[in-house]
Amino acid sequence: MSAPRPRAAILSVGSELLLGDLTDTNATWMSVRLRERGVAVLHHLAVGDDLDAIVAAVRWLAGRVDLVVVGGGLGPTSDDLTREALAAATGRPLEHREELEEAILARFVAAGRPMAPRNRRQARVPTGATAWPPAGTAPAFAVPLDVDGPGGAREVQLVALPGVPWEARELWDDAVGSRLDALGATGATVTRTVRVVGRGESDVAAVVEPLLADDPEVTLAFLARRRAVHVRLTATGADVAGARARTQPAVDAVVAALGAAVVGVDEDDLEAVVLRRLAARGETLATAESATAGAIAARLAEVPGASRVLVGGVVVYADAAKARLAGLEPDLVAREGAVSAPVTAALARAARDRTGADWGLAVTGVAGPGPVVAPDGTELPPGTAHWAVCGPDGEVVTEGRRLTGDRPAVRERLGSAALDLLRRVLDGAVGSA
Ligand code: ATP
Ligand code: MG
Repeated sequence: MSAPRPRAAILSVGSELLLGDLTDTNATWMSVRLRERGVAVLHHLAVGDDLDAIVAAVRWLAGRVDLVVVGGGLGPTSDDLTREALAAATGRPLEHREELEEAILARFVAAGRPMAPRNRRQARVPTGATAWPPAGTAPAFAVPLDVDGPGGAREVQLVALPGVPWEARELWDDAVGSRLDALGATGATVTRTVRVVGRGESDVAAVVEPLLADDPEVTLAFLARRRAVHVRLTATGADVAGARARTQPAVDAVVAALGAAVVGVDEDDLEAVVLRRLAARGETLATAESATAGAIAARLAEVPGASRVLVGGVVVYADAAKARLAGLEPDLVAREGAVSAPVTAALARAARDRTGADWGLAVTGVAGPGPVVAPDGTELPPGTAHWAVCGPDGEVVTEGRRLTGDRPAVRERLGSAALDLLRRVLDGAVGSA
């Protein structure tokens, strides 16, 4: 019999979180770290910089879990109340720790700044707490809290970490890792992601769900992102390698069943895959973008090493720019309409020819919210879009479809559709490569 999974909660302290001025990325980062250690995270809670609210939240959470990680409120100002709150919740008055003050002072000396008197507050921790010297200026500490429950008294671990993200991350292993060791958290949970482009979420689910219906070890989830549908496969094992091994047959089955619609697994996104394929062939790419206005080139440039492949691109948003910057005959746009297969094909060819790149990629579309009227009088609804790839032999492959979603979604999906066409052409799944 394996021990039950430890349960944890994350309490984020800071009024900015409640005002909507700050997104709680600390809590999501911590959840991932805890999951990797096989811990079940049962609650995320945010409270303002208010002593009573913090104490009440700590007590409520402590009644339900084995570990409460409190993030933020360890600064030197009067609105930083986590130390006081944990002292009150545990009935352990704050005590000054000389060695923490020295560690804080050493940080200031290293930074070449004088230490303000108020920073001494940060050397105070609840009596008997275990403390760790600061990464920035706020030490972390851990203190147990005795809780009466239906099964009798039990000890809950409280850990306080700074709110500054890099400081919390640096102190994580020492402060939280040591508590997890004490709680006997030995397991590990791993989530694998299969990235799918060009098929809808329900379509993907219909293919994948039957494959895993008989596998109780692997939990299946779908996440419909704008750039891709993510099929998430999660398993628990004795350690990370064991958990990963349990997911592998499921990953292989999903990849095989979805075939060419699979872009990559785990960190392998569309941009990285396309750039890697082109780099392996020693070939380069340029873009001509209307509706996405440069977003495709920007997405590619986010990947380290993109400069080996991405030559450049033109933003040809207005009809006049399609003629002046990409050299299209003005007649073509007037005749076919800017959002059309012939214009998109001509732009892909122009991107390639004008830059000397091996490949050209182009998009046109109606981003919305309103429709656009084509030269023949038909109304093109928002989401109407075309994308085209021109290959080294000068041959052009064009696709088009009505994309769903609001303006930002259409623009992002159009970029993915274009990059995915290039990926499939490179794989020999479409046209001639
Ligand atoms: P510390 O305990 O380190 O003093 P604090 O709560 O007093 O933290 P703040 O002054 O509120 O710190 O925030 C410091 C920085 O940390 C800010 O830049 C803020 O954006 C960031 N931060 C605080 N809490 C979070 C959080 N939950 N998620 C992401 N960033 C956060
Ligand atoms: Mg704060």
